[in-house]
Amino acid sequence: MNFNDSYAMTIGGDRVSGGGTFDVVNPATEVVIASVPDATREQLDAAVTAARAAFPGWASTPIAERRAALDTLGDAVLANLDSFKRLLTTEQGKPHADAAMEVGGAGMWLKGAATLDLPVTVNEDSAERYSETRHVPIGVVGAIAPWNFPLLLAMFKVGPALLAGNTMVLKPSPFTPLTTLKFGELAAGILPPGVLNIVTGGDQLGPWMTEHPGIDKVSFTGSTATGRRVMQSASATLKRVTLELGGNDPAIVMPDVEVEKVAEELFWAAFRNNGQICIATKRMYVHKDIYESLKAAIVAYAKTVKVGDGAEQGTQIGPINNKLQYDRVLELIQDARDKGYDFLIGGEKTDMPGYFIPVTIIDNPPEDSRIVQEEQFGPVLPLLKFDDMDEVVARANATDYGLGGSVWGTDEDKALAIAERIASGIVWINETQHLTPLAAFGGMKQSGVGVEGGVEGLLEYTNAQTIVRRKKAVA
Ligand code: NAD
Repeated sequence: MNFNDSYAMTIGGDRVSGGGTFDVVNPATEVVIASVPDATREQLDAAVTAARAAFPGWASTPIAERRAALDTLGDAVLANLDSFKRLLTTEQGKPHADAAMEVGGAGMWLKGAATLDLPVTVNEDSAERYSETRHVPIGVVGAIAPWNFPLLLAMFKVGPALLAGNTMVLKPSPFTPLTTLKFGELAAGILPPGVLNIVTGGDQLGPWMTEHPGIDKVSFTGSTATGRRVMQSASATLKRVTLELGGNDPAIVMPDVEVEKVAEELFWAAFRNNGQICIATKRMYVHKDIYESLKAAIVAYAKTVKVGDGAEQGTQIGPINNKLQYDRVLELIQDARDKGYDFLIGGEKTDMPGYFIPVTIIDNPPEDSRIVQEEQFGPVLPLLKFDDMDEVVARANATDYGLGGSVWGTDEDKALAIAERIASGIVWINETQHLTPLAAFGGMKQSGVGVEGGVEGLLEYTNAQTIVRRKKAVA
């Protein structure tokens, strides 16, 4: 696999240039690192046509063969881990170690999803009739991915959609198209032409996809605001939708935690990938009995963490991925500053080139402050003090989001009792962010519609079809 700097879309198995091009910037240096195809509407039509043409053949390919192809594709990603990792760091900003985790996770996701099975339910097997419900592919899936985990979150879609027998047109974020374009070239050597098409473009391309009559389902990961637009646009053609949207995950830290043991893990729950994770801890509620000691331990650890260019050895946190998000996070910091909240660390803009924001922790801001109520999606964490369990559950749930959450405590029964009261699609006890292709993951409330992962996620790429056979004996 050639990781040179020539980037092309994959349409019907062919390398295709765009009608024009757009630039991709390294967020650590603000230097343009690549020029990539900007798809025209006709090129999107061609990708949809290729996917539609490939659909009957792929859908009727035995599932064992589709499974084997996805497993091979997963191995191919893993075999190219080092090159993918370097490219991912230059387009996304994350440190090499984190990029390696993402690429490894992407390969393993394909292989893991490939082990799932489509269930068949026998509804009736009587003297009169035999009735069963099976799950058939929907058709062409339009997959739209964000910039925080460009390769991994695309694989959340590619694995189950293709295993179920669908074909796909996949669009990465314009901020991070490079690894996905190279993945498309890799896949073209393994999958039949048209099964997986990759298109890149600017702001119009996503809406063109969601309104396209040739796309049967949209699987979208991104912000809640965009998710609403996607659902609205998809409604015109009654497309199926799976929406994985924003979050404002609470972590609830019980008074019986071992402060020194959990401080580092709690720090990374909030700051891994520079806080740019849908399931990052975005509000940390700490019981008043340990508030001061945990605060001191987290801040002490935060001071040891190295922020810098992800390509440099020793960097633990890279830049924010793009200017838009950088400005948004700075605006939230400025709001906190204007309101006079206490900063325990950070809060100053750095002078270095690149979209760098230092690790920032705010001391017990009011519950109705913007930094508590909004999804910051960056390296700024509000530490919040609580007293009573009912009160903290109410505060944790007082949000339109419901993606994830975590509870930390030595008494697991007590922690479980709290976890069960959190209104979110996933709740972890004494860890965070553990996802697998074998378990369902999705948002409650305005964090999403539907799930990815597990059999439940696989079924989102199918239509249920019931076949009822009247038996000859009674005909
Ligand atoms: P975004 O909504 O701005 O963009 C996501 C994708 O949608 C991009 O590919 C973008 O080009 C495309 N897009 C933009 N406008 C569109 C439109 N009108 N129609 C169709 N597509 C359109 O999100 P982002 O800034 O790339 O990602 C960050 C957000 O994603 C955060 O809110 C984060 O919480 C969320 N996210 C959620 C999950 C999850 O699994 N729930 C995972 C990662 C990120």
